Amino acid sequence: VKGLAMKKIGEVGWVEKDKPEIGRRDALIRPIAVAPCSSDVHTVFDGTLGDLHDAILGHEAVGIVEEVGDEVRDFKPGDRVIVPAIVPDWDCEAIQNGNPQHAVYETGYCQKIDDALGAYKFTAVVDGVFANLFKVTQADMNLAILPDEVSVENGVMISDMVTTGFHGVENADIKFGDTVVVLGIGPVGLMAVAGAKLNGAGRIFAVGSRPNLVKLAKEYGATDIIDYHDGDTVEQVMEKTDCKGADAVIIAGGNESIMMDAINMTKAGGNISNVNYFSKQDTIPIPLLGWGMGMSHKTIKGGLCPGGRNRMERLIDMVKYGRLDPSKMISHKFNGFDSIEDSLILMKDKPRELIKPIVYL
Ligand code: NDP
Ligand code: ZN
Repeated sequence: VKGLAMKKIGEVGWVEKDKPEIGRRDALIRPIAVAPCSSDVHTVFDGTLGDLHDAILGHEAVGIVEEVGDEVRDFKPGDRVIVPAIVPDWDCEAIQNGNPQHAVYETGYCQKIDDALGAYKFTAVVDGVFANLFKVTQADMNLAILPDEVSVENGVMISDMVTTGFHGVENADIKFGDTVVVLGIGPVGLMAVAGAKLNGAGRIFAVGSRPNLVKLAKEYGATDIIDYHDGDTVEQVMEKTDCKGADAVIIAGGNESIMMDAINMTKAGGNISNVNYFSKQDTIPIPLLGWGMGMSHKTIKGGLCPGGRNRMERLIDMVKYGRLDPSKMISHKFNGFDSIEDSLILMKDKPRELIKPIVYL
């Protein structure tokens, strides 16, 4: 098996490994399209999962089932499937705590059950999808058939970008007519905009600056655009809301100081929902006044995207029945296995016209 791996912090390279051994409930997948994620960039260049060596990257894929273990019921070689970014161990004890995203029984970068981020297994615990063959554990619970009506492009976007942006919306607990701010409108933020609209938000502020992101944010449902280069984002939101602020703020971009903005622009009793992957500092500041000296009833939540079969099948239906077209976010198309590296470097460099690349294999 050949794959694009993290060699050490700050360095990627190609590695050759033995074909992964699959357990009785696992599957071996041959990817037909993959996409790099901003999180792969954090992993390699910020070293957020530690100094991994020869760990194959990638967690967004659509592929063909190559081989299944003898206990796999619903998938067979030749099936076209979405592989979710998050692949919990569904019979792990921690599942009973209601947090599948953190439930894994193989040890990863932390050495105990119920680890935060445990089910973010690709790269951290098992090799990722940037390989000509890779293993998916508990295939019946983690894979989803990609129906003919749903394109490969949409399948790849569902695996991570849609489930993440929508999770930002879920944790924001949006009610009909709410004023929602989405901080950052890369592919994750764009899906948060789309999800906020689907969830009944009244007014949706999209915060970003690059013209093609702004255009798509409007298409997905933003009613107002704020460029954070045009002055303080909080002041701009306050001015446009008659100093009321937002019912909910979803964080999908920015650095550690973005939490200050989010808290300061949220109404008392409102929700702050983070899906950003903070990776540069050890702590995040909280503004005391904005937090009502600790008594403002503002809820701060941060979540890893849900994975698993059921989640994927639900999102597939949203595309299949015309609620959402995430493939509009694909701005760059690559062909061939070797171009996975180019797509990852593109994701790191983030040229102004980039939204999301895809690589056809
Ligand atoms: P992008 O880099 O494509 O987009 C970031 C956005 O943030 C851009 O719109 C950018 O603006 C905006 N931004 C930058 N600085 C600020 C600021 N100070 N205030 C407001 N907006 C700002 O990121 P992605 O969409 O690819 O990913 C977003 C995050 O989600 C990443 O950290 C990624 O790792 C994480 N992620 C988390 C997952 C989870 O499960 N929780 C899963 C997948 C990804 P501009 O338009 O100017 O570029
Ligand atoms: Zn990701």
